[in-house]
Amino acid sequence: MITVQEHLSRIVDTVQRLPPMGLDLLDAQGCVLAQDVTSEVALPGFRNSAMDGYAVHAADLALASHAAPVTLPVAGDIAAGNTQALSLAPGQSMRIMTGAPMPDGADAVVPVERTDGGLTRVTVSAEVSVGQHVRQAGEDVAAGDLVMRGGTRLEPRQIALLAAVGTGEVRVTPRPRVVVISTGDELIEPGIRPGFGQVVDSNGLMLTAAVRALDCVPFRVSCVPDDARTLQSTIESQLLRADAVVTTGGVSMGAYDTVKEVLSSVGTMRFDKVAMQPGMPQGFGVLGEDQIPVFTLPGNPVSAMVSFEVFVAPALRLMAGRPQQETSMVTAVAAHDWNAPAGKVQYARVVLSHVFSHVSSQTGSGYTAAIAGLQGSHALGSLACANALAVIPADVTSVRAGDQVSCHPLGPILEAL
Ligand code: AMP
Ligand code: MG
Repeated sequence: MITVQEHLSRIVDTVQRLPPMGLDLLDAQGCVLAQDVTSEVALPGFRNSAMDGYAVHAADLALASHAAPVTLPVAGDIAAGNTQALSLAPGQSMRIMTGAPMPDGADAVVPVERTDGGLTRVTVSAEVSVGQHVRQAGEDVAAGDLVMRGGTRLEPRQIALLAAVGTGEVRVTPRPRVVVISTGDELIEPGIRPGFGQVVDSNGLMLTAAVRALDCVPFRVSCVPDDARTLQSTIESQLLRADAVVTTGGVSMGAYDTVKEVLSSVGTMRFDKVAMQPGMPQGFGVLGEDQIPVFTLPGNPVSAMVSFEVFVAPALRLMAGRPQQETSMVTAVAAHDWNAPAGKVQYARVVLSHVFSHVSSQTGSGYTAAIAGLQGSHALGSLACANALAVIPADVTSVRAGDQVSCHPLGPILEAL
């Protein structure tokens, strides 16, 4: 038996960040930048108006007020998209729209709300100061600025900035392509009512969805029978399009545990018992010319999910150039008593609830953790209700109501209303 940490260390020490590639900006969403980006342009690229109003010389309106309004002739109209350089003579104004280039000479914009909105002459009833409502060229980003460092994950905001500074294609660490293979003679495709002895390949769908939820690219290979030759040729052919392979089923002590049988003596594959519940039988290694990491997860659905969270997800994040963990553990108070196995880390499926408490003059808030239901490693019903895994250390054999437990969120934990 090895510890969770030993198995995880072996995995994270083996996997490597994928080599960078060029992608169109939108295709790079969610990827990590593999280059620094320097802007060749300034943002804004030209001096422009921050308001719909009138471009003016501030000096002409320095004394304008409600009691003493000033009227100026309107010499023209400037819309956003105007590419002609215009200039404004002193004593005149031009109607200007948000984002339109300021005419030379003008040094302020009077918002239309502060005027009578005139088209040939405009009356201004508020004083105007130099620079008001004018966006200066380069005030946001100067040409030559380092706007983004390699290692930044490209979320919508980062994509906007890269687009604005003229980037079309970026070098990024690509999304890992992950082949998910489910094995078992009993498996059938979803959407069909299972007959006696048949089981829907829920793991195949769960793991495919989990890969996608991690912003990686899944390929699902479903319902591979417990036949050594078929499995071997499936894995060999799938290695061609994979950055990683995840299998489920066939790794325990049964007579037809084909995954273990086929992979035991190839590549660097190793099969271990890991001191955890659920998820004890685990295999990991690299296969093929390209040293593709292969994770062989147990077939029980809860074990497969827990194994994915604990071992596969950290590895995929590292391959994508991201941090091994991206969400913090949440400390919660156990809502009731439960038992945990001696010598194994327990991943209990729990419902975390956000609670407010009022104790005399103090108001606090925190989380409680309640067991989500049946804790068997086959129990999908309670897994679907859970929003976290309470991680109970190997040396703890009982959790008592009121104990603090450390929880690994399985998704966003909603705040109480
Ligand atoms: P195994 O690890 O192959 O011994 O399977 C353990 C248990 O998990 C058995 O009850 C299987 O029927 C079930 N199981 C295996 N693979 C899947 C799968 N892809 N989807 C749902 N259940 C599965
Ligand atoms: Mg099986």
